[in-house]
Amino acid sequence: MPTTLFCRLLTLVALCALAAPLRAQTVTLDFQITINPIFISNGSSTAVLSNATYVDRFAVFKEATQKIYAQAGIKVNWQANETQVNSTYYVVDNLTEYNALIGLYTDSNPRVINMYFVQNYGSSLGGTNAWGLSEQNFVISGNYSGLNGVTISESAFSNNAIDTIAHEIGHNLALTHNVLPANTVALGISNLMYSGNPGVTTLANIYSPGGTGLQRDQLDSQQLTVLRTLYATDNTFSPIQPLSPTESYTYSAIPEPGTAALIAGLTVMGFAGWRLRRRGPGES
Ligand SMILES: [Zn+2]
Repeated sequence: MPTTLFCRLLTLVALCALAAPLRAQTVTLDFQITINPIFISNGSSTAVLSNATYVDRFAVFKEATQKIYAQAGIKVNWQANETQVNSTYYVVDNLTEYNALIGLYTDSNPRVINMYFVQNYGSSLGGTNAWGLSEQNFVISGNYSGLNGVTISESAFSNNAIDTIAHEIGHNLALTHNVLPANTVALGISNLMYSGNPGVTTLANIYSPGGTGLQRDQLDSQQLTVLRTLYATDNTFSPIQPLSPTESYTYSAIPEPGTAALIAGLTVMGFAGWRLRRRGPGES
């Protein structure tokens, strides 16, 4: 079973980390996902891409997404940026507009995840307090629901919440906040599917084997199982596909933030923790 092999690999990496905490850690990527990024324009400006700061942050968001999914041995591919002028959806006013948007400009390959970058959500969807909204899939009795669509707001970029994309992709990949696959999500605020704001604005705050610091956006064993068995569960629509030949991902060996930085980060989170960063239609 690939899952078993991967767990063993992680164990080996963790043991190595004890011996050499600053040595770069490498894991094998043997699955992949591909994202179709669609930037919605109102005709004069384009969500995210019109702001040079956000363009720079987008590159970090991509790095964060890869660092997070490396835990599951998944490579994250990005297609070329696509811009669509459609002033109706520059701001997604309500659930009706959301549902219409995720049917537009879809990739011809149903396995490719369509990701829409919009300027904002209407108040009924959370306004600037919602940083991303996406389709929640489930695996029930071996059946994968197979919905496709992620939306990301500029608010994710203005807050520099670099793990927002990975969290919203998680919903498409059948990870939930705390309902399935078990009644609880382990690790609380340190879990990728934590529904509040974990305060991740630097790559160093994201989990790495043997790392220290905040170690946010971890995947627990059940979530790893969901991700690593989705292709076997549904080989028609699963966004997760085998990667052959396999590749490797090396975690950066940079020192993680010390205690002072950790305390500062927690202080900031105390003020920002109320934000509803992560909400999706269909979730309760
Ligand atoms: Zn969520």
